[in-house]
Amino acid sequence: MSTMSPLLIPAALVTRLRVARRLVVLTGAGISAESGVPTFREAQTGLWARYNPEELATPEAFRGNPQRVWEWYAWRQERVRQAEPNAGHYALVEMERRVAEFVLITQNVDGLHRRAGSHQMVELHGNLFRVKCFDEDRPVENWPESADIPPRCPHCGGLLRPDVVWFGERLPVSALQAAEQAAATAEIFFSIGTSALVYPAADLPFTALAAGATVVEINPQPTPLSPHVTFSLNGPAGAILPGLVEQVWGSASGVGGSGP
Ligand code: NAD
Repeated sequence: MSTMSPLLIPAALVTRLRVARRLVVLTGAGISAESGVPTFREAQTGLWARYNPEELATPEAFRGNPQRVWEWYAWRQERVRQAEPNAGHYALVEMERRVAEFVLITQNVDGLHRRAGSHQMVELHGNLFRVKCFDEDRPVENWPESADIPPRCPHCGGLLRPDVVWFGERLPVSALQAAEQAAATAEIFFSIGTSALVYPAADLPFTALAAGATVVEINPQPTPLSPHVTFSLNGPAGAILPGLVEQVWGSASGVGGSGP
C-alpha cells in the first residue's frame, strides 16, 4: 500500500499544522478498515451476516441471548487479533511525537492505536479485550474455568460481558469529560473515519468548532459533519494521513529537523 499519497494537502492547512501546539484527533471504525477490521456499516460476514450490530451490541440483546452476544464478541476479538495497525494508525503515532500537546480520542474498541504506539489516548467506548460483570459493572480479569458461555463472575456468579459501551449505554464519565475538555481546547481537531452519527462522540467536533478550532475531516464518504468542517480530505485515512505528516513535518521519525 502506498504511503506517499499524491493527494495535495491544502497549503493553508499545512501552514496551520506547522505552528499548532495542541492537536486533538477523534477516530472511528474507518481508521481500522484498512487493517481488515470491518466497520459497523459494512456488511458483516459469514455466520453473523444476518444480524445488525444494533441487534447484538445492546444490553437487551445480551439479556435475550447472552451466549450469542458473547460469541459475536469472541469472533470480533479473533478478527482483531489477526489484524495489524495500518499506515493511518502509525501516522497518528508520528503526529503525537511531533506536536507539543496531543490527545487521541477513539471510539474504537480494537486496541490498534495502542498496538501502533499511541500514548495520549482516551478510549470512549471501552475495549474488546476487557471483561466486566453484567450485574455489578465491575472489571473482572480472571474467572474460574468452566464450560459456561458467557463465563460467570467470580464475585457474584452473574454473567460476564465485554467491557465496551453498547448502544443505549452511558459512556464512562471520566473518558467523556477528558474528551470534551480536549475538544474544547484544541487548536486543530481531526475527525477521522467516523460516520459522525453516534452520540455523544459526534458532538466533539462541534465543541471544537464552537471554541474556534480548525476542524479537519478525513473520510472517503461525506458525513453529517462534512458541511461544517474547515477542511475536508476525501479518501482513506491510511493514504491521507502519512502524506499529511510527510508534508507538514517531513518523513523520517526522529530526524529532529526544524523544517523549512
Ligand atoms: P461507522 O462504522 O459508523 O463509520 C465508519 C466511517 O468510516 C464511515 O463514515 C466510512 O465512510 C469511514 N471509512 C471507511 N473506510 C475508511 C478509511 N479507509 N479511512 C477513513 N474513513 C473510512 O463507525 P463509527 O463512526 O466509529 O461509529 C460506530 C460505532 O462502532 C462506534 O461506537 C465504534 O465503537 C464501533 N465500532 C468499532 C470498531 C473498531 O473498534 N474497529 C469496528 C466497528 C464498530
